[in-house]
Order: sequence, then structure tokens, then C-alpha cells
Amino acid sequence: MLFVPHDLRLRMQAENPRVVRSADEIESILNTAGLRPTRQRMTLGVLLFRGEHRHVTADGLHQEALDTGASLSLATVYNALNQFADAGLLRRVSVDGMRTHFDTDAGDHHHFYVETEDRIIDIPRGSICLDRLPVPPEGYAITKVDVVIRLKRIQPHQDKEAGHSPR
Ligand SMILES: [Zn+2]
Repeated sequence: MLFVPHDLRLRMQAENPRVVRSADEIESILNTAGLRPTRQRMTLGVLLFRGEHRHVTADGLHQEALDTGASLSLATVYNALNQFADAGLLRRVSVDGMRTHFDTDAGDHHHFYVETEDRIIDIPRGSICLDRLPVPPEGYAITKVDVVIRLKRIQPHQDKEAGHSPR
């Protein structure tokens, strides 16, 4: 497994999260992570890394790639996502063991999970306080703590595209 250099990770967590990265910058991100920027990886890299941090699933990203006119199989998207994750560019977030979500923010943070929508949302940094962790069993060390807080909607979803439009 490759390790993403600290300076690359800092660049990935750009100060301005709304920054729009050029294809050249995305190519350089892939190169620095040790991934050859093939056409397919570039297509997916642009969707993933061009702007704000995102959470995607293989299905969702596959559909987005098709919408841009690219012809990629779901298996290709899945393999690329796993390569990006192995290279440290993405973080895997498993909530139910059924479907893996991939997070373009590979830094430490926690998530809300909306079960009925199969969607994860970042919990703002600093809003969870873990000040008492258990002592791990002898011979083990804690490497990471992932908190997933499950949500259900308590008000009907206001979906602009659904329902009757006042016309
Ligand atoms: Zn996240």
C-alpha cells in the first residue's frame, strides 16, 4: 500500500474547499499518488477531486461518468475507487457492510448516515468529543476511531423535483 505524502494530503485538503482543480492538477495528484493517469482514472479523478470534498458509491460515480459521456463499466469504476483508496486518495466508509462509500476527504472525521437514503454526511470537525476511550486489550493499540451516527428523517423530504410544481 502506498502512503500519500503529507504535502499531497495538505494539497488535497485545500484551504478553500470550493477550489476548482484543473485536469493538470488532477493528473499531478494521480501521479504523486503513484497512479498512472489513464483516461479512465482521469475521468473519475476529475469527478472526484475537481472541487469540494464528496462522498460517492461505485454505482453513483458510475452513473455520473456515464452522464459525462464516458463509457466505463461499473467494474472499472469499482476497481479505480479501490486503487484510489489504496493509494490514500480516498477513504472507505462502511456503514452496513453492504455498500462501501468512498470519501474524498481522507482525513480524520466522522459521519452521519441516513439509513433510508443510504447517504453519508460529514459531522463537522470538533463537534464530537471523545475524551474517554476504552483501554485496548493487551497487545493491541487503537489506530483509529470511526463514529457513524445513524439518522432517520422526521419530516417529509422537500424534494424540488418531485411533487407538483406550481405552474
Ligand atoms: Zn466524509
